[in-house]
Amino acid sequence: MERRISGRTGMFCLIGTPVGHSGSPAMYNYSFQKTGLDYAYLAYDIPLEKTEEAVQALEYLSRTEGIIPAIESAHAVAAALKIAPEMKLSDAAKLIGACNTVVVKDGKLYGNNTDGMGFVRNLKENGVDVKGKKMTIMGAGGAATAVQVQSALDGAVKISIFNRADEFYANAERTKAKIKEMLPECDVNVYPLEDTEKLYAEIKDSDILVNATKVGMKPLDGQSLIEDTSVFRPDLVVADVVYNPKETKFVQAAKAAGCKVAVGGIGMLLWQGAAAFKLFTGEDMPTDEVYELFFK
Ligand code: NAD
Repeated sequence: MERRISGRTGMFCLIGTPVGHSGSPAMYNYSFQKTGLDYAYLAYDIPLEKTEEAVQALEYLSRTEGIIPAIESAHAVAAALKIAPEMKLSDAAKLIGACNTVVVKDGKLYGNNTDGMGFVRNLKENGVDVKGKKMTIMGAGGAATAVQVQSALDGAVKISIFNRADEFYANAERTKAKIKEMLPECDVNVYPLEDTEKLYAEIKDSDILVNATKVGMKPLDGQSLIEDTSVFRPDLVVADVVYNPKETKFVQAAKAAGCKVAVGGIGMLLWQGAAAFKLFTGEDMPTDEVYELFFK
């Protein structure tokens, strides 16, 4: 790695807090080396109130020949826009209301959200296209919103969102309103997760069922929001966003019931990283090797 860095090496980075646990530096630096791209990726622990200064510094660096910073950040788009009101947002970032990947090109900032892209691509890799499909999606937090928006952008025709009566429920109503305005051809409805009768009725004529809540993730592992496993018909595509553990009780139960496609969240994680890599470099990430080394 040290021998690889030269006076012309371009820089990408993660800013946010905490960042110490992030797998992104290892994944991207390996990919740069593997593909022969002259870039390096570092993680910077920046508190939210210092983000503006950090972005300004990166913007300045982007004008310096040979240094092309890109920012991967968990901060909300509102914060990003406050920093750079002129930032150009992708449709997904606009609808989701958050961006996780900002690319600086020629001194201009481009905000994207790659989470939903990773979800849709992971389904594609498993032979499933969301286009023309009806989806039932449980959850209304960050990951769920990204999945809902990207699925609508990629042609899902009907999305039924279920969330429990917590602080995230209003997100689902906002997502419904935003999709209705920008993509009226996609019919979005929101229901309380507590209404299990409605949940099972919606799953019955859905093509794809998604768990996009934290249920199934440690310490909620061993739990699933689907108690009646008879809803898992063989042709129902089942997907989880949770990747820790790699196979949740939800996915295990779907597989045991005979669902032909039942996937966990690790593929979404891989493919959202690949989408960011493409935005950063214009090149394809070596996903097979990255999967073997960092995700298996
Ligand atoms: P969040 O805090 O934004 O949202 C949490 C969601 O879980 C809300 O909808 C909330 O209502 C729901 N929830 C929490 N506890 C619940 C319970 N006991 N019963 C029912 N619903 C409950 O979280 P997030 O950032 O959206 O993350 C959700 C999951 O997605 C996490 O496991 C996270 O690791 C995973 N994730 C995966 C990827 C990926 O690439 N695979 C990307 C982002 C997030």
